[in-house]
Amino acid sequence: MSGFAVLKTIRCRNHPEREAVARCPDCGHDFCRECVTEHGGRMLCAGCLGKTRKKFFYQRTIFKLSVKTALFIVGLATAWLFFYLIGSILAEIPDEYHGSGLDGWSVSDD
Ligand SMILES: [Zn+2]
Ligand SMILES: [Zn+2]
Repeated sequence: MSGFAVLKTIRCRNHPEREAVARCPDCGHDFCRECVTEHGGRMLCAGCLGKTRKKFFYQRTIFKLSVKTALFIVGLATAWLFFYLIGSILAEIPDEYHGSGLDGWSVSDD
């Protein structure tokens, strides 16, 4: 009769002599009270808890980096706009300066 195997108590993955009290939602394995830790309202095993923390750390790092990149791009765009406006202002000046310069030169030559 193989029906007895189904009724067997679920044991901890790390401690075969202990009864499992929780199933890790990440890896799907059963663990005893000592092997699981609550994290964000979920009972995670030690292995998955470490992975989750690492993932969280990476997400924070990526977020910080993207904020820095965004600020850099905004700064670059502002600088470009600033120089573009100065450039367009300067581009209009030489025509007037050139005209008055010629007049001044022709007057002194006279
Ligand atoms: Zn797990
Ligand atoms: Zn255990």
